[in-house]
Amino acid sequence: MRIGIDIDDTLTNLYEYTIAYGQMYDYEELEKDSMINPYGYDTPFIFEWSDEEDKSFWEKYIEEIVTKVNPRPFAVSVIERLRREGHEIYIITARSNLWYKNPYKISEEWLLKNKIEYDKLVVSARDKVKACKENDIDIHIDDSNKHLKELTEAGIPVLLYDNVFNKKSDTKLSIRVYSWPQIYNEIQKLTKREKNEKTN
Ligand SMILES: [Mg+2]
Repeated sequence: MRIGIDIDDTLTNLYEYTIAYGQMYDYEELEKDSMINPYGYDTPFIFEWSDEEDKSFWEKYIEEIVTKVNPRPFAVSVIERLRREGHEIYIITARSNLWYKNPYKISEEWLLKNKIEYDKLVVSARDKVKACKENDIDIHIDDSNKHLKELTEAGIPVLLYDNVFNKKSDTKLSIRVYSWPQIYNEIQKLTKREKNEKTN
């Protein structure tokens, strides 16, 4: 199978960093105490910041955060195993020039530093349906409600990486996953089912 994999909050636990850096910025730089919802999707829904405060937070910290964040447990070994078993890994991220000087380079360097093997890296994929269709993706792994909805409406199955902000977004074409070992298990099941369908 050709497997699409999102980076932020799928390969990584970005959310923990967003909260930690966000609170540091909130207390120490803005001298506020403004968290309104610890389960919100992204900072405008987590903190009571003005647009300028939010913009300046991300401008200042985004590159540091995405450089420092670690892969989730077993992500590296599961991906290695999937490739060894003949699956293709396409890393598909919405990271774009909007926030990054060079979204390809910063992602490529992080993947290299963390020894994550892959076949192709696609950046600026704000429209993941388009990116998945253009790259013939069989199944995509992501954490975003928006991408989940659009992908499954387009008939592309999704493994939804569980997070506090996506608790209620399951669809008929999605499976909620909580870890990379589970991702491996689900892909195994799907591969077996596909083989059986072909032989029957
Ligand atoms: Mg994500």
